[in-house]
Amino acid sequence: MRAGGDARGSSYDRRLRKVWLLRTFGSGKMCPCNWCRKRLTYKTLTADRIVPGHLGGTYKHSNIVPACIKCNRARFHQKTRCVARRRRGDYTTKEFAALMLQEWR
Ligand SMILES: [Zn+2]
Repeated sequence: MRAGGDARGSSYDRRLRKVWLLRTFGSGKMCPCNWCRKRLTYKTLTADRIVPGHLGGTYKHSNIVPACIKCNRARFHQKTRCVARRRRGDYTTKEFAALMLQEWR
């Protein structure tokens, strides 16, 4: 992972990331969605960040899980709602990140 962290990186980086997810969470050719267990292949797999980018979450391996596009999108909306709460000042950044990790594990 190059400096800059949050960047999605080149298409080469994205390819490596997908291959790593398939190998780590599955057989190398397919793996389950981390949330709904749907079977994913290289084509349908997306890299989902546990801690989202605006909170400093990067695409480093410890922060990504395989997700289908549907779950990735659903989680994005969830994130957006949480961010609204965060903006109101209900949580500190640290509390907020911990809360999300719990809710979305
Ligand atoms: Zn899913």
